[in-house]
Amino acid sequence: MRKIVIAGNWKMYKTQAEAMEFLQGFMPHLNDVADDREVVLCVPFTALVSLSQSLHGSLIRLGAQNVHWETSGAYTGEVAAPMLTEIGVRYVIVGHSERRQYFGETDETVNLRLKAAQAAGLTPILCVGETKQQRDIGETESVIFSQLENGLTGIDQTNLVVAYEPIWAIGTGDTCESSEANRVIGLIRAQLTNPDVPIQYGGSVKPDNVDEILQQPEIDGALVGGASLQPDSFARIVNFSG
Ligand code: 13P
Repeated sequence: MRKIVIAGNWKMYKTQAEAMEFLQGFMPHLNDVADDREVVLCVPFTALVSLSQSLHGSLIRLGAQNVHWETSGAYTGEVAAPMLTEIGVRYVIVGHSERRQYFGETDETVNLRLKAAQAAGLTPILCVGETKQQRDIGETESVIFSQLENGLTGIDQTNLVVAYEPIWAIGTGDTCESSEANRVIGLIRAQLTNPDVPIQYGGSVKPDNVDEILQQPEIDGALVGGASLQPDSFARIVNFSG
């Protein structure tokens, strides 16, 4: 049985005070969450410490949105993996398309970050996905395969989550057809050496499409942006019926 992982990616949203307010609204819904699924909140660095204290002993796991590959050093503006594990962080998103697009992230730096995350005991969520233009010219598979091959070189696949996030579906409301997401995720699985790696879908996952998406046999969870910011909508998503 593959693990189901539902992760919220808050991106650059929520102050500490707003994060605490979210928790107040969200926690009561957690009683209903089936125990076959892991719920993760990937929040800005500044909210990690207070959320970690508030979540102590709860079912919610904490995640960061990036991590550097060195354990310490003169890297202004970066955060190292042992700094995250020290405060109770369990997951980290690596290689999100926004980092690739705006911050020069490459498959090589993704690979280094994955190694550093695992070395510290974090579970990395590796994001892969194609642009609209790449899809239109038939390059979806080749783009994703090369992101996987280069990103995963030398990576232990026992402590790993992969997220398929077609870039054209992120923040657009334009969800990938669930059958198409299922097809691509099946292709991704065939590229992995460990068939038990959970593979999420991400891109405009909402309360009204989550059931259909997660009923697909290859899809093991979701990486949710906008709809993870409101307690009620994220609660509906983590309580999807699959
Ligand atoms: P949206 O759910 O807002 O489309 O964002 C998806 C995403 O980028 C999650 O990492």
